[in-house]
Parts: sequence; C-alpha cells; structure tokens
Amino acid sequence: MFEDARSVPRDSTMEADVVIVGAGAAGITLARALSDTNLRVLLLESGGLEEEAKTDDLRHGLDSGEPYPVDFCRLRFFGGTTNHWGGWCRPLDPWVFSRRPWVDDQGWPIDRTTLDPYYEQAAGVVELPTEPTGWQWGWDYWRQELKDEGVPPLLDGDVVEGAMFRLSPPTRFGTRYRADLKRAERVVTLLHANALELETNDSAQLVTGVRVGTLSGNRFRVTGRIVVVAVGGLDVPRLLLLSDTTRPKGLGNDHDLVGRYFMDHREGSVGTAEIATLPTAFLGGKLSLFASRRALMALTPEVLEREQLLAVAVGIDDTTKGVAPLVDKATGVTAAQVGTVQRALYGGKSHAVDVFIRAEPKPNRSSRVVLGDERDALGQRRLDLRYTRSASDDASIRRTLEILAQELGRTGEGQLRIAPEYTEQVDNAFLVGCHLMGTTRMADDPTRGVVDRDLKVHGIDNLYIASSSVFPTVGFSNPTLTIVALTLRLRDEIVARLAP
Ligand SMILES: Cc1cc2nc3c(=O)[nH]c(=O)nc-3n(C[C@H](O)[C@H](O)[C@H](O)COP(=O)(O)OP(=O)(O)OC[C@H]3O[C@@H](n4cnc5c(N)ncnc54)[C@H](O)[C@@H]3O)c2cc1C
Repeated sequence: MFEDARSVPRDSTMEADVVIVGAGAAGITLARALSDTNLRVLLLESGGLEEEAKTDDLRHGLDSGEPYPVDFCRLRFFGGTTNHWGGWCRPLDPWVFSRRPWVDDQGWPIDRTTLDPYYEQAAGVVELPTEPTGWQWGWDYWRQELKDEGVPPLLDGDVVEGAMFRLSPPTRFGTRYRADLKRAERVVTLLHANALELETNDSAQLVTGVRVGTLSGNRFRVTGRIVVVAVGGLDVPRLLLLSDTTRPKGLGNDHDLVGRYFMDHREGSVGTAEIATLPTAFLGGKLSLFASRRALMALTPEVLEREQLLAVAVGIDDTTKGVAPLVDKATGVTAAQVGTVQRALYGGKSHAVDVFIRAEPKPNRSSRVVLGDERDALGQRRLDLRYTRSASDDASIRRTLEILAQELGRTGEGQLRIAPEYTEQVDNAFLVGCHLMGTTRMADDPTRGVVDRDLKVHGIDNLYIASSSVFPTVGFSNPTLTIVALTLRLRDEIVARLAP
C-alpha cells in the first residue's frame, strides 16, 4: 500500500522489520522480493509518483572536481533514475571479480558464480527476453548463434571478441511495479519521505532508527530491525556522511572510505569507421533487426592482461551523416594507426558507421563525494562530487582503439578513423554513463571497504547498502542488472536473518 509522509503524525515513530530507504531499481526490487515473506517492510521514497520541482531541487549537488552532470545523473521520485535509464544490460564479466593488480589492488570478495543465480532472476525483473537463447552471455556461444548474420573474421582471432548486451524495454520500475507494491499487504511505501539521518546507539554498532522529514515541514522517525540504504550511488555516501551524531565522520567511515573511489564509465562517440562485414547484431538504430540485444567489441581478457589495460567496449552505430573525409590530423597515437589502416588492404562495398565506447574507469581514491557547505530546503548539506579520473582511463581507450584499428586493417575488414575532436570529447563532462559506482566499496577487510560481502556495513550490525556504490571494480557492463542481482541476494540474507 502507499501512504504519504506528509500525513504521518508529527514526532511519531513508525515500526517495521525492514526499512528500505529509496525506491529506485534497488529499493523497489527489494520491497517486491520481500513482499512474499511475513516481514513488515517500510519503503521510504523522497519523491512522489511524478517528478515535482521542489523535490527535484533536493538532488542538486556541486561538482568541484572534474565537471560532472551531478543533477542530470539521478532522478528523485518513485522509480528513481530508472524513470529515464536506457535499459542496456550485461552482467559483470567473470574476470571483473578477480584481482587484476593493474586495475585495483583488491578486486571483489565474491566471484561471478555467487551472483549467477541472482543475475538470472534479475533478468526477469528488468524484463530481458530469455527466449530463444536463454541465459547466455559468453562470446563462444554468441559466435555460433550469430553465424548466419556473418561474424566478421576480426572476432574470430584471439585479440578481439564480441560482448553481448541485452536491452531492457527499458523497465520503468516506478510504473511497472507500482501495482505490485500497492497490493502488497505488508509493504508500506511512504512517499515524500526523506531520510535525513540514520540514528544509532552510542557505540554506533546498531541503527536504532531513521529520522525522516518532508518538505512540508513534517518530522517523524521510523525503526526497523534491518535498515537498507538504496538511495543511489551519490546519495548513499551523502546519507552516511550526514549521519554524524554518534560518529562525527559519518557512519561506516572509520577508515575514511565513505564517498571515495567514485567511478563512472566513459561513454560516447569517438569517431567513424568503414567496415566491410556488417553483422546486424552489432548495430542499433534503423538497421537493428534485434532491438533486444546489441553486441560490442572488446579486447580479450588475455590481451587486457598482457597490455595491462582497463576494459573498453567499442560499438558501432549506423550513421545517417555519411563518412567524413579521412582526416590525417587525427590526434595522438591514433593518427599513426589511421595512416596504417588507410594503407591496409581494403576495398569493395563498405558501411559507414559511428564508433562509440563504453570504458572502464580505474578506481581512484581521490575521486570522492564529500559534503558541501550549501544546504538544501531540508537543511541538509548538499553533496559535492570531486570527480577525478585516472590517467590510465584515457590511455586504455586510446590503446584499445589503436589495437582495434590494427586488427581491422590486418583482417582487411575496414578502417577506423578517430574523430579529430576526440581529445576535446574526452574532456567533455557529458561523456559519462551516469553510472554512480564505488563510493561504499565492498571488501572483506573493514580497512579496505565500507560493506562486507553480504552488503552489511562493517561494524554496524543491521545496516545494509543496495547500490552500485558497493562495486569495487566495474568492467564495462552497465550497472543496473548487477544492482538488481545483488539486491535479490540481499533479500535472501535478510530472510535468513529475520525470518529463517
Ligand atoms: C540517462 C541515464 C541513462 C542510463 N542508462 C542506463 C542503462 O542503459 N543501463 C544501466 O544499467 N543503467 C543505466 N543508467 C543507470 C541507472 O539508472 C541506475 O544504475 C539505477 O537507476 C540505479 O538504481 P538505484 O536504485 O541504485 O538508484 P535510483 O534509481 O537513483 O533510485 C534512488 C531512489 O532513492 C530516492 N532517494 C534519494 N535520496 C533519498 C533520501 N534521502 N530519502 C529517501 N529517498 C531518497 C530517490 O528519489 C530515488 O527514487 C542510466 C542512468 C541515466 C541517468
């Protein structure tokens, strides 16, 4: 059922077994998944059912590091940012979970097989088509499957492989699952309910309640045996940092990790290519025959390890603009490659395509969310994102394109031209994926991570986080499928603890 926080009696306390803060992909998934248990669930959502200007302003933040579209990257009403997400889905590749010393000194404390059953459930939640191919992501499978569409020889060697993505409709969690939550007898969704602070006992080992406020001025508390913070990857650290009554540096922040390691994928168009073999699976837009899936190209894990590169997925889009004249003044190392490829054996009918990337960031401790001095209408300090990219991010993009250009030329399949304005593009604030990751990273060791492998905040017995903020490393897959999978796993953890 739905209720409105503006009508809750002032200074009262509402009780539940599980309090979930935030009704986006994670919060709605968890509330639905718990609705078939006998646990009483309270889902707090800052916004209403539609976008409202005053609530919208609460998401406003500063970006005093590298330019970053802090406000655009998240929405503040029921359904959260899934109200405008793009629906691209892919699990994190198995090698993302392992320790890659050139990427990060720790990696994940769990492996991909731990998440596989939950990924399958998550695919249902985001409504990925499972027929006729079922749960298949590996390139070995897709190479066979796509044979009729003509897999280019480029993808048959051991340098470049395909990376299949699936496309959610895209599922708008707020509208798609509204009726389910309305029907759920033991789930109360409280709209216009802003979590202002997580309260704890004196030793800060137990969350004793959540202080809630509305823009109309109402104030009350909610309590739960378990509290799950699911407010998105920028607001999770903000709420922990704002919760400073018993711990002046914020909750879960004894080791100065909350808010650090903020990451996003670099995404955007980087140039054009002419390609001889044009498998439809690699195209979207007008030429797409299969709108439910898209294949991108990537260097194999062996090449990534040998070259010590971050992972970069490279996609092609049909272009309506035609191909611009070849430009030898293309910037950086790629210029030499363009020359090489231009001279490569190439002829016959070709297809002009735009080339875009989705690139893995390197976790960077100094890329962080802190609290700014400015306050919002609820009197809360706004967040300040000090986004800082690592030098190796762009170096990996350039090297990946260089190798891809070489392979295109070597196999005689085409030529790749990197846009001369590419250098400016990588500095463009909007060449990001709006994937808010890393700010409360997962690690078994409390000195190296904010949450443990079960998503529980280290040192606090009943506080959990459901968000891409827990990703310690990220590969190039979009995050939401993994957020949903981790959240479904969290559901089992909560049930095991509270309703065994
Ligand atoms: C333009 C765009 C395109 C995208 N495309 C893709 C894509 O193709 N594939 C993909 O995987 N991902 C994509 N994403 C990212 C995707 O939207 C997020 O990964 C996903 O929505 C995160 O889910 P979440 O539940 O963690 O947070 P959100 O969906 O942001 O939900 C958080 C909720 O918490 C609420 N909230 C915040 N603070 C409080 C508070 N103090 N108290 C109470 N409630 C609060 C918010 O109102 C919101 O409803 C895209 C994002 C953008 C912006």
